[in-house]
Amino acid sequence: MQFISTRGGMTPAGFTEVLLSGLAPDGGLTVPDALPSLTRETLESWRRLGYAELATEVIGLFATDVPREDLARLTAAAYSPDRFPAPIVPLRPLTRVADGLELVGLSEGPTMAFKDLAMQFLGQAIPYVLAKEGRVLNILGATSGDTGSAAEHAFRGKDNVSVVMLSPHGRMSDVQRAQMYSLDDPNIVNVAVHGVFDDCQNLVKAVNADPEFKARNSVGAVNSINVGRIAAQCVYYVWAWLRATDELDDAERSGAQVDVAVPSGNFGNIYAGHLAREMGVPIRRLILATNENNVLDEFFRTGVYTPRSREDTLATSSPSMDISKASNLERFVFELLGAKEFSRRWPELEARGSLDLSDQQARFESEFGFVSASSTHEERLTAIRLVHTLTGRLIDPHTADGVTVALALMEPGFPTLVLETAKAAKFGATVAEALGGEQAVDEAVQALLDAPQHVTELDNDLDALRSLIEEHALRA
Ligand SMILES: *Cc1c(COP(=O)(O)O)cnc(C)c1O
Repeated sequence: MQFISTRGGMTPAGFTEVLLSGLAPDGGLTVPDALPSLTRETLESWRRLGYAELATEVIGLFATDVPREDLARLTAAAYSPDRFPAPIVPLRPLTRVADGLELVGLSEGPTMAFKDLAMQFLGQAIPYVLAKEGRVLNILGATSGDTGSAAEHAFRGKDNVSVVMLSPHGRMSDVQRAQMYSLDDPNIVNVAVHGVFDDCQNLVKAVNADPEFKARNSVGAVNSINVGRIAAQCVYYVWAWLRATDELDDAERSGAQVDVAVPSGNFGNIYAGHLAREMGVPIRRLILATNENNVLDEFFRTGVYTPRSREDTLATSSPSMDISKASNLERFVFELLGAKEFSRRWPELEARGSLDLSDQQARFESEFGFVSASSTHEERLTAIRLVHTLTGRLIDPHTADGVTVALALMEPGFPTLVLETAKAAKFGATVAEALGGEQAVDEAVQALLDAPQHVTELDNDLDALRSLIEEHALRA
């Protein structure tokens, strides 16, 4: 498989080449130049594979330049029992809530959020590529919670990667903070910036705007547009369909389709689902769910994409979906329009602050299976309560967004799989609010909260950050 840029200005490159780059050199996003087709026979031949083995098959469709035995070693390490206690991705029926409704457990990893599934693969694949090329990478990121902790847990202890992660001082949940600041590995540097998340992001942008500094200090990123993350996310869509159809007989299986509901922010998770569907995984509809920051829901319902300003982005009870623009959407629009039409119409976004594709809106569902809706804070609380009362299970506010939207849009006869994107314990305060009272904190979480924390405080100051990077950066 070769990757090209949505903006047309990049020589086609293989997986290992685009794995370490963020945006394409022309400012676009990298996309596969063509997708393979998976037949039902191929899917059936994968039914007995364990998660890591399935990951080798699915990621192998993208990483055609990585020798198969190397890829098998990387996935075995990424999805080993010490990182993901079995079962890695369990399916849990919520029949009492609605017939055909199931949760897909994506948050069994070390930081209790779905981002671990992709990041743990990068934690193996990136050091592997760097070692081959005799390079190092100093990852610089800004986090409001889930991405930063997943990255730190994936790269801790690696000898050719360091992580400098900026977080807003005093503004994360206790569990998110403890997951990051409790790490004591020399290659992990937690920086609490005196400011808000936007300040952290602006500092990262300012560093990235200086190519000489970046090159001299081997500065890079592992954000949600990373191709390795997208490839690794495709795996659980295949896994979820296989597990959802395990109990069916051969005749039933051959026609079986599922709907998948995805709590969405940057369009990274659901874009992987879209690729899986395009390759032939029997997904009927992709149900996109947003919170009050509904820029994506608006796009899929009206065809008009209008990124919000920072000031118009609300702080909600599902904070990992609080986005002002959806970084991965450009990839879908490129596929929708084709290269030529894309280059004609995409610049409208820059020029007018909005992109009107309402003439294409009917195709979203008919060709690509996308439907969408959004939830409010009250609806998420109701969903948490409902699921807990009827099944005894706790869900987090992001998953509650998925459940709310799934219940609104699901249709009889089609199993609807809601991706569980975080564990309830990670967002205990909102879960407690929903259930009316203090939530008991489990032992493992309490131990994490009690562990000593390591963090460097920093003023919102670019020079101070540059000095800190120069001091900690690994050198080839
Ligand atoms: C990152 C995240 C999301 C949003 O995923 P995207 O890939 O940005 O659409 C949803 N829920 C949780 C818990 C997350 O951490």
